[in-house]
Amino acid sequence: MWRATVLTIFPDMFPGPLGQSLAGKARDKGLWSLEPVDLRDFATDRHRTVDDTPAGGGPGMVMKPDVIASAVDALAADPRPRLLMSPRGLPLTQQRVAALALGPGLVLLCGRFEGVDERVIGGRNLEEVSIGDYVLSGGELGAMVLIDACVRLLPGVMGKEASGAEESFADGLLEYPQYTKPPLWEGRPIPEVLLSGDHGKVAAWRREQAEKLTQERRPDLWAAHNAKK
Ligand code: SAH
Repeated sequence: MWRATVLTIFPDMFPGPLGQSLAGKARDKGLWSLEPVDLRDFATDRHRTVDDTPAGGGPGMVMKPDVIASAVDALAADPRPRLLMSPRGLPLTQQRVAALALGPGLVLLCGRFEGVDERVIGGRNLEEVSIGDYVLSGGELGAMVLIDACVRLLPGVMGKEASGAEESFADGLLEYPQYTKPPLWEGRPIPEVLLSGDHGKVAAWRREQAEKLTQERRPDLWAAHNAKK
């Protein structure tokens, strides 16, 4: 079973959104498991302190390396990647998500305050992963994003096995536009080709639209897509 362990000072945030809908149902079915671990359980003082003032001065607090190391060391040795949610990490991509979904699961460390002491990142071999170029107040939402993206790719989770293969990024392109009934809505028709029943023409139209959208909206993806060819 694919297993996610989340080290956090806010274990009650979990499962949160991961307990609902696709991910929640999949968890109920035993297709994956979630284990939040309270970092405060590894503090050594009676106030359960997990942070301290930054060396060199400055605002905010920094998470203590000894507490984090104890929490990591308490996990049974296993081959799961250990990731630190961090705006300094490589930004997450669908390709990375797909690779992580194929593995045994994840151990995710959620930072808070100004982040974590640099020494424990090296000392426990934590790989920093970002969910985008903006700053969150903590790693928990990032961990949920990463877990959600992985879980929906696990076998048996999505209704139709095929639905992962065609969506945005799968092929380095954004997805084509989608429509459903009614055929005419507020004067806007569904493109005729989609009602033609001609599967070849539908596929060609979708391809064309995906390429056009990617070119217009994401020149970066478009360039990468063409470089691969
Ligand atoms: N001072 C840090 C930001 C700390 S934000 C800096 O400037 O880099 C507090 C925590 O939120 C981080 O330790 C990290 O775990 C999480 N976080 C913030 N932004 C994130 C992002 N874009 N991706 C993943 N985690 C993020």
